Amino acid sequence: MTGTVTALFRDDFYLSTCEARVTAILEGGGIELDQTCFYATSGGQPGDTGFLEREDGSRIDIVETRHGANKDVIVHISADGAPVPAVGEKLVLHIDWPRRYRLMRMHTACHLLSVVCPFPITGAAVGEEESRVDFDMSETIDKDEVTAGLMKFVEENHPVYVQWITDEELAANPGIVKSKNVRPPMGLGRVSLVCIGENSSIDSQPCGGTHVSETQEVGAIHIAKIEKKGKENRRFRIRFATPEDGVAV
Ligand SMILES: [Zn+2]
Repeated sequence: MTGTVTALFRDDFYLSTCEARVTAILEGGGIELDQTCFYATSGGQPGDTGFLEREDGSRIDIVETRHGANKDVIVHISADGAPVPAVGEKLVLHIDWPRRYRLMRMHTACHLLSVVCPFPITGAAVGEEESRVDFDMSETIDKDEVTAGLMKFVEENHPVYVQWITDEELAANPGIVKSKNVRPPMGLGRVSLVCIGENSSIDSQPCGGTHVSETQEVGAIHIAKIEKKGKENRRFRIRFATPEDGVAV
């Protein structure tokens, strides 16, 4: 049987560990828990990896986290050959925090890019080393100018926070959704609006992912490439910058 999980990461992006009880074991190494800090793949952000610690100190490695039949179900996929815990067993959860934190920095950078390039988004994928955002645009744009625009927001260190609104409020304000093809995270009765700047002065966008709490945490990033994908589509690749990239680190 699969059941509703308390998704602790929705209210605390910085929670890297918590306790939980096993509620179900699925075919193929899937583990369901009563609560979790493991983010499940969604909205272009990959799910968390890490390990579950048993009472005797042994570990169950988790290679992927994803949703089940709906968003109320979160399945932790264990590594091949990992021990199988018992239903009811108490575990301590540990996400791979360095990996998640890079994803949070990258994900926040994608939001900043949507401000620097105010065009409709047709797709996005957040990655540990590189993220991509596709825009519905035909304009030619200089990548160094975009990098400068991103780094300005990073250096100004604006707050990043979540505001919860109801599905009805979102339906009444369709203009706040920038994605053309990616539907906002509705169906939970409430939608998280990711706001950047005091009183959302920079941006607000419905998003169910995890983000850093200040733009400075994003660190040095740059646009590595802008690719033309069809007449009205541009793919931007964001990477963390090194001193060789000419961006102040
Ligand atoms: Zn987001």
